[in-house]
Parts: sequence; structure tokens; C-alpha cells
Amino acid sequence: MLIDFHSHIFPDRIAAGALKSLSDSIVRYQGERYPHYTDGTLNGILKSMEDNGVDMSVILPIATKPTQTGTINAFAKGIRNEKVVSFGSLHPEQDDWETVLENLAEEGFRGIKLHPEYQSFFVDSKRSIEILKKAEKLGLYTVLHAGYDYGMPPPVHCQPDRLKNVLTEVSGKYIIAAHLGAFVNWDEVEKHLVGTPVNFDTAFISKFISPEQCKRIIRNHGADKILFGSDSPWQEPKTEHKFLLGLGLEKDEEDKIFYKNALKILK
Ligand SMILES: [Zn+2]
Repeated sequence: MLIDFHSHIFPDRIAAGALKSLSDSIVRYQGERYPHYTDGTLNGILKSMEDNGVDMSVILPIATKPTQTGTINAFAKGIRNEKVVSFGSLHPEQDDWETVLENLAEEGFRGIKLHPEYQSFFVDSKRSIEILKKAEKLGLYTVLHAGYDYGMPPPVHCQPDRLKNVLTEVSGKYIIAAHLGAFVNWDEVEKHLVGTPVNFDTAFISKFISPEQCKRIIRNHGADKILFGSDSPWQEPKTEHKFLLGLGLEKDEEDKIFYKNALKILK
């Protein structure tokens, strides 16, 4: 069984435009266009899941403006089926963030996605910590984009040292730091986050991390706190899956990473 804990889709009528604008911003900062492997729609990901041997996908939507939250969460609720489950969204700048969290918990959501780069907040800011605390209290997980984003200028808002600061206020058990703790900043992950209760996903790392460092982080951190993710449509799940299978982990560790840890969270 394979559960992809980090994927993105959009409502049909905006999917093409959303992918184009995200892809354009990558060109702006990286000078090259990155492929996307689905058309960004629900049907697109269902087809990709079949092609990639993915049994279930967790969708992580992001409200880039406070006014988008309502529409995004309605979409997130509407797409739920036995193969696709979505986290909710909120924008740290909205005044009613607390009510949004309470409603999401009541509606059976398992968590939210926050993107410190797109939403322009530091992970150890006052509001961010308030949100993480409240989410933990409600039993909601928070997936944080962590580390550099390919389509955004500096400063980076969620680096390992800043995320570590948060752990004096929350347990960290309900945090999932994407991209193995911090995209392309894995030396700092090893310094500040490995061994803490924070969970990591494996989205979009295979092209950038050495197998040695990846295996070392997983082993030292503990496979109980690692969730398989691809970052679809920006990566194909089978590429990340193959990379992880090549690390030579124990079967028991692989099972935890590929689906057991995810099932515990999704219940
Ligand atoms: Zn992502």
C-alpha cells in the first residue's frame, strides 16, 4: 500500500491557470521551466495515482489570501472520497483563524497546510505559534512548507532553527515539516530537528538529496515520524518511491513511511 501525503490539485476551472502561474514563478527564480505531471485536477490526480501505484492521496491546499479560505475549504470538503482526502487551509492574517480551525476540526478534517513562503510569515512569529498551539489542542496536524521554495525569493520563512524555536511552545507531534524538514537545507535539519517530535514528509527531495544523507536522517530521526509524499503534480510519486526503496531501509521502516504512519494520522 502507498499513501501520498503531499499532493496538490485545484478546482477544474482554475487548475490550468494555477499551474501556469506557479510554473512561471519557478522560471522567474530558477531560469528553467519545471514540468508538471498532472493537469492539476481531481481527475488528473486519480489517473496519476493509478499510473503510480498510489492508493490514497492527501491534498494540501494553500490560501494565498485570507479571502480564499472559505472557497478552498469548501472545495477540500467536496472532493473527499475513498481515495482522496484533503487537508484544510487558512491564512495567518485572517482575524477569524480560530473559528476556521474549530470548524475544520468539527467537519472531520485531519489538519491544515500552511505555507510560510506563499503566506509570508515566519514560523516562529506570534500568530504562527498561536495557530500551531490551537491546532494541536484540536488534534489537527499542520503541514508546513519547510525550507527554500523554488518559486519564491528569500528570506526563507521556515528554516530548521526557526522551527526549533516553536518547540518550546508546542510539542511538535502535530507538525509535519515538508521536504524532509527543510528543502535543500538538510545539514541544518540534522543540526536542529532530527530527534525532535516533528514529523517530516519526503516530498520533492529525490533529485536534490544524497541517498546517504536521506537514509541517515530517516534512521536518526526515526521512521515513525516520516511520511511518504511526492509533491504531485511537481513530481511523480513513483520517482520518489523508487528513490526511497533504493535506500535499503528495513521492510518495517518502509511500511511505516509508505502507509502505516499516514493511516494513524488519517484514522
Ligand atoms: Zn507542495
